[in-house]
Amino acid sequence: MIQLKNAQELAKMRRACQISAEALKLGGRSIEAGMTTADLDKIIYDYIKRHGARPNFKGLYGFPGTACISINDEVIHGLPSHSRQIRPGDIVSIDTGAAINGFNGDNACTFPCGKVDIEAQRLMDVTKESLHRGIAAAVAGNRVGDIGHAVQSYVEENGFSVVRSFVGHGVGKELHEDPEVPNYGHAGHGVRLVNGMTIAIEPMVNQKHHSVKTLSDGWTVVTADGGLAAHFEHSIAILPGGPEILTIGWEEP
Ligand code: MG
Repeated sequence: MIQLKNAQELAKMRRACQISAEALKLGGRSIEAGMTTADLDKIIYDYIKRHGARPNFKGLYGFPGTACISINDEVIHGLPSHSRQIRPGDIVSIDTGAAINGFNGDNACTFPCGKVDIEAQRLMDVTKESLHRGIAAAVAGNRVGDIGHAVQSYVEENGFSVVRSFVGHGVGKELHEDPEVPNYGHAGHGVRLVNGMTIAIEPMVNQKHHSVKTLSDGWTVVTADGGLAAHFEHSIAILPGGPEILTIGWEEP
């Protein structure tokens, strides 16, 4: 069931999303060659705890980390590890969130470690822009398929592909609520968008084919063909004045 949010609930969402965005931004700024993904996870964990919030990924479905940290051909759900070092030229996707006062934030960004190759940069730029095209389509009266169509058409025009096996979602009292928000689809199809909906739009974009597989750790999702992947996500609210980005802030340098 889709849970619409009233003004008081939206205020709580904004706080949870603000902490989520600051934690993500700090994570991105902290990336350095030679550090491990466990080091990065700890920085994000400490920030969320220091602000009185709960790392809402930790323990969800048994996930051990505060953030999913996925490098290069890893799409999502990378496990923070003391044995995984970040190297110069890597692209590092961080997906994390915080809960406070009973509400959740969720956001993700792919950050470069130092200078990355031109195609990796283009993949990140296209994925980020596809997120914003999806957000622009998230207006009351449209349908979920309008969001997916906006994301997919932009990504494919640029020669990349949209992951099908994982999708965005409603967000609120639960980190994952209805409806599902695919990053692909047909304009004018799917659940109708109404004011008061809060959703996480999160394009996962592959450099080559859209197929993915899960590694034997049971978590890490990688591109099936070894190509790079990028992942950008905002939690947003659908409001009479248009979409409001709740996880505002991590995009600032
Ligand atoms: Mg999400």
